[in-house]
Amino acid sequence: MVKWRGREGSKNVEDRRGVGAAAGMSGLAILLIRFVMSRWGLGGVAVLVAGFFALQAVGINPMALLSGQPASGSRELSAADQEAGQFVGVVLAETEATWSDFFARSGQDYPEPKLVMFSGKVESACGFASAASGPFYCPADQQVYLDTNFFAELSQRFGAPGDFAAAYVVAHEVGHHVQTITGVADKVRRAQARASQEEGNALQVRMELQADCYAGVWAHQAQKQRDFLEPGDIEEGLRAAAAIGDDTLQRGAGRRVTPESFTHGTSEQRQQWFYRGYKNGDPGACDTFSE
Ligand SMILES: [Zn+2]
Repeated sequence: MVKWRGREGSKNVEDRRGVGAAAGMSGLAILLIRFVMSRWGLGGVAVLVAGFFALQAVGINPMALLSGQPASGSRELSAADQEAGQFVGVVLAETEATWSDFFARSGQDYPEPKLVMFSGKVESACGFASAASGPFYCPADQQVYLDTNFFAELSQRFGAPGDFAAAYVVAHEVGHHVQTITGVADKVRRAQARASQEEGNALQVRMELQADCYAGVWAHQAQKQRDFLEPGDIEEGLRAAAAIGDDTLQRGAGRRVTPESFTHGTSEQRQQWFYRGYKNGDPGACDTFSE
């Protein structure tokens, strides 16, 4: 159990869980269009559309008016949902403390990433994503996207329960943000554009292992600087790293294990790099590219 209770959460969390209805066209809007169509035909609809844009032009969201919903959170979140949200906020704040420290050491500011919590599906600058794709980081908007139901899945489907396992996942995604800021991610993308599929995957594996190593570095610092962990937490993180290794996932899905298709690394590799980061506590120990 990580010692997260009573700690302050990050201000960079945006909770989009329970919004859903306001994003699509509401039933009321469809009824309105049908009604206008039946009475005034297409001309009426044209007037309606013009009105829609006129409202938008003055900064009013007509869809929000029609659906009667505020711009954010309307569905009641369960106590467990709320707790997962608070937990994620505290973990994110811990990663901010760690990384702003490291950046400050080289005289740089750490631009903190935003974290969007969603349920079901989400729109990002990297495209539309569903919960099935798992947590991800989008470099284009520098945001982490996370469906907190993934934590339950981590424990039930992947057999890696515990709150540190969840914290590791958040820290891994933040690791991708760090790669984006330092330019590593861009370099890899450029190299991938020239590479074969197989070489591209191998580069991707190195990216992912570095993010695992960064998660380990964070765990080290969170423990050392702010006494965040308890005995057993690192083992939980290692179990999580093993559970989401490519070989384990392929085997679990009843598929043949094909290393050339790996994009995250084997269970053993993921554990090793997480642990190396944890032992060293320094991002300099995370050069997964030259080994
Ligand atoms: Zn990743």
